[in-house]
Amino acid sequence: MAIKTSYLANHVRTLKPSGIRKFFDATAGMKDVISLGVGEPDFVTPWNVREAAILSLEDGYTSYTANAGMLELREAIAKYVDDYYCVSYDPEHEITVTVGASEAIDIALRAILDPGDEVLVVEPCFVSYAPLVTLAGGVPVIVESKKENDFKVQSEQLEAAVTDRTKAIMICSPNNPTGSMLSKREMEQIANVAKRHDLLILSDEIYAELVYDDLYTSFAAIDGMKDQTILVSGFSKDLAMTGWRLGYVCAPREITQGMLKIHQYAIMCASTMAQHAGLEGLRHGRTDMAEMRKSYRQRRNYIVQSLNEMGLPCYKPEGAFYTFPSIEATGMNSETFATRLLQEERVVVVPGNAFGDSGEGHVRCSYATSMSQLQEAMKRMRRFVEKL
Ligand code: PLP
Repeated sequence: MAIKTSYLANHVRTLKPSGIRKFFDATAGMKDVISLGVGEPDFVTPWNVREAAILSLEDGYTSYTANAGMLELREAIAKYVDDYYCVSYDPEHEITVTVGASEAIDIALRAILDPGDEVLVVEPCFVSYAPLVTLAGGVPVIVESKKENDFKVQSEQLEAAVTDRTKAIMICSPNNPTGSMLSKREMEQIANVAKRHDLLILSDEIYAELVYDDLYTSFAAIDGMKDQTILVSGFSKDLAMTGWRLGYVCAPREITQGMLKIHQYAIMCASTMAQHAGLEGLRHGRTDMAEMRKSYRQRRNYIVQSLNEMGLPCYKPEGAFYTFPSIEATGMNSETFATRLLQEERVVVVPGNAFGDSGEGHVRCSYATSMSQLQEAMKRMRRFVEKL
């Protein structure tokens, strides 16, 4: 009998591992490393939010919740989205509580894609988008946002990429890794493409609370777009809750029913304790969010100025907690730059190509780290660049 060489499915075997993880593995065992690599807050979850989880355990809430999440939490999400983004969702039929925004993206794609359906993925972007489209049986069609447009995709680019098989456009604004944010006008232009071709917008709004200069507009709030938008968000970034694994997705009723079927078979429900914590965060977390935002804003201003001064041109990001400086002037590609910076100065940044080919020539530096660490990292990076 022939021996199988691999039991893995082809589409899994050929999936590339995340470029971010690969890079972090290189730091194992190294001392005195400063990481600007991670995409998570350096803050600890606010105490009242942690306490709500402790109380939930003390009160014996240790069983499953409704598949879609506790109704009380869905009601709080509906109120929050209505209060701050002016979109009203029915908590009973249009909101699902998920295991992080990550699960929300996954079930959204699996709910809407038939084999071979195309999704326009704007790169550079969060590492999971294209792989999750592939895993859902779809085909990611990459559309590159350009440096000369401050990494904002142009609606004409999207229009040109639409085919008969296009089902959705994935948008993340403010963006990981570039920090760039679309204006309302730019969103309206993209919405017009979606309307013209009857496409869904899968809008990842996980950084909506981390916006520094402008007001945030949700894609679902754009005129006529609520029925064509799947709004993904969560608690990881604005409430410093990455480890709790809590997110949510708001979508029209039919899509929510579809997503819920996948969620109930694959997941059952998000962690009960985390849901109690998230509820407290939505009800009483605004002061903490504002304080963290203020701190990120100061750090953003500092790091952008420092990078520009050392000759790594850097666009001023409007949101999230990443800068995406160009390293082209060094003559190195992003992987070599990041590897040498780690080896020679013990600073971790992520090569831009981890976020798609269009990220080449850049590195992602997260400023979700303390000001003193940032200052030391900038000192080391300047020394590294000057040496070249
Ligand atoms: N979307 C974007 C753009 C992200 O940057 C991240 C995490 O880095 C996620 C989604 C995943 O968020 P969560 O921790 O809620 O799964």
